[in-house]
Amino acid sequence: MSSFLDQHVLVLNRLWQAVNICSAKRALTLLFEGRAQVVVNAGDGSFQTFNFNQWHDFSQQQPDPECIHTISFRIRVPRVILLVIFDRVPKKEVKFTRHNIFERDQNTCQYCGKVFDRKDLNLDHVMPRDRGGPTTWENIVCSCIPCNTRKANRTPSEAGMHLVRKPKRPKWRPFVQVNFGFQQHESWKHFLDLAYWNVELGSDADA
Ligand SMILES: [Zn+2]
Repeated sequence: MSSFLDQHVLVLNRLWQAVNICSAKRALTLLFEGRAQVVVNAGDGSFQTFNFNQWHDFSQQQPDPECIHTISFRIRVPRVILLVIFDRVPKKEVKFTRHNIFERDQNTCQYCGKVFDRKDLNLDHVMPRDRGGPTTWENIVCSCIPCNTRKANRTPSEAGMHLVRKPKRPKWRPFVQVNFGFQQHESWKHFLDLAYWNVELGSDADA
């Protein structure tokens, strides 16, 4: 029984974007508390969602070999859940790393807006470091070498340059990091594919 409770469940945010992985135990708790619904692939390209009571009924009607049994209770292990409430759902902090800054900025120079190979991008302090600019999510952006050279030791406005977008701390860990090291369940595939192609990494859209 405990091994079922430890199984991995894919977590979708309200936009149906894959954002995390949690244990079945955690997923069932969120479901029970009304903070998540179970998502099941209906097989015809559509998805059904279940609240706790619906999922409980479904578990009786269509038992799965991987049901969690108690003496009076049987419930299927969810594979995918959809968060319906964000409050109090613990968010993993996105590590402030070179890799994650590139992810957030999508390998795009934040001054000229062009996409580069990572080896051709620098990390730029928007407010220069020797003028008190901190090394933080809000003050570090990807910059191509020509833009970096042109900006030199100046603020963007002094250099007559504009940021493509204001740098912010991403709210969700870029999904690709969560993904690695977990065996993927078949029912995750749809969402992982969507996540891979569509999620704007580091976007805080509705998160
Ligand atoms: Zn540039």
